[in-house]
Amino acid sequence: MIEACAGTDEEFAVLCIDLDGLKEVNDVFGHAVGDKVLVEVARRLLQTARGGVVARLSGDEFGLIIDGRQPEAGQALAAQLAEALAKEFLIDGKTVHTGVTTGISVFPHNGSDAAALLANAGAALFRAKVKSRGTINVFEPDMDRQIRDRRVLHQDLSVAIKNGELSLHYQPQAASGETVAACKIVGFEALARWMHPLRGFVSPADFIPLAEESGLIFEMGEWILREACREAASWPVPMQIAVNLSPAQFMHGDVVNLVHSILLEAGLSPGRLELEITEGVLIEDFDRGLALLRRLKALGVRISMDDFGSGYSSLSYLQAFPFDKIKIDRGFVLNLGKTPQSANIVRAVIDLGHGLEMSIVAEGVETAEQLSFLAKEGCDAVQGYLLGKPAPIAQYAGLVGRDNTMEPARKTG
Ligand code: C2E
Ligand code: CA
Ligand code: CA
Repeated sequence: MIEACAGTDEEFAVLCIDLDGLKEVNDVFGHAVGDKVLVEVARRLLQTARGGVVARLSGDEFGLIIDGRQPEAGQALAAQLAEALAKEFLIDGKTVHTGVTTGISVFPHNGSDAAALLANAGAALFRAKVKSRGTINVFEPDMDRQIRDRRVLHQDLSVAIKNGELSLHYQPQAASGETVAACKIVGFEALARWMHPLRGFVSPADFIPLAEESGLIFEMGEWILREACREAASWPVPMQIAVNLSPAQFMHGDVVNLVHSILLEAGLSPGRLELEITEGVLIEDFDRGLALLRRLKALGVRISMDDFGSGYSSLSYLQAFPFDKIKIDRGFVLNLGKTPQSANIVRAVIDLGHGLEMSIVAEGVETAEQLSFLAKEGCDAVQGYLLGKPAPIAQYAGLVGRDNTMEPARKTG
């Protein structure tokens, strides 16, 4: 196509098409069904492309080349493809839904060789996914810069620990009471913070996924756990400490050994440590995840299920493993008093947890109304801005029994 179009005023588009939901299909129905979905998707793509070039680029990514006036012809085809794939698939008697997200680059404006055109269609796809799944996005030159930025951020993150740019904030967790005064703070959740020398504060919602992508999460997760345990062990009042573990930390290395040796090193009693995990740990590899959770629990630490209700929240996970706690996702708490559904969902999750002898924590409690509703419904614990924002531990010195006016000099006395 490049040879045919070069030097003429002909244009063509490269489409990078990402199948949405294949991972979920594999998780829910198994890989055999996932494979059949791919075959069927390929068939529909070929049919809709009407003679255009179609290729499978990787696991769930397809490439397409289409000639004509651009970007209009490419966009029109992308819309037709999306429509063709929006129709449900019937596979082995199961109904499966998928969708596609598409990035487009145009010859010659977005690249004069195959590598540049594919890379830019990929960049456009990346932006499309960030914006919203199911969208179609045409490459714009500044995307290139944004993706390069991301790479720089990766590099910066790799030296962040060494440079002392990572720190922990602590957010109080309290036993429920109907008013703030009636709530008793029993512990803290450690939340990671990155102060980048040039960009300033980078949110963990942004850098934890980056760390997971690059494998830095192992080193970082170890630092976070060690720092949180060391800090908690130094408190005169033996408050609880909750630490988030990423599913990636369960996939490689020995997370059980790590937790065990850090507890010993810090001199922290296992009963004071709580590990917050998400269902990702069980989705990725159920048997391995379950075995590791059991061994962690055997160390004497508590395990809580974070963000409950926001993903698949399969009840089979609750059946398979005796979590100590369920954390009801912030989204439901936010909507209390706004939609009747969320009140019912919160009530049902509280009942469900209690029936399984798990205690319930509500996250993201911001108003007195939310707090009193939760307390009345029997929710065991609460966490949120109403009780205290994540902050450096010095801000909660009184609660952990440390006099924050104490001079460092007194250490020597
Ligand atoms: P998460 O574990 O669900 O943590 C709760 C998040 O909700 C925190 O955001 C916290 O600041 C925020 N939050 C707490 N109370 C309220 C409230 O009342 N209202 C609102 N609007 N937000 C509230 P943060 O600190 O930005 O962390 C975001 C996510 O990043 C965490 O969600 C967790 O998934 C991840 N994360 C943070 N620190 C770590 C870490 O050390 N390790 C790992 N693996 N992930 C971490
Ligand atoms: Ca958490
Ligand atoms: Ca959460």
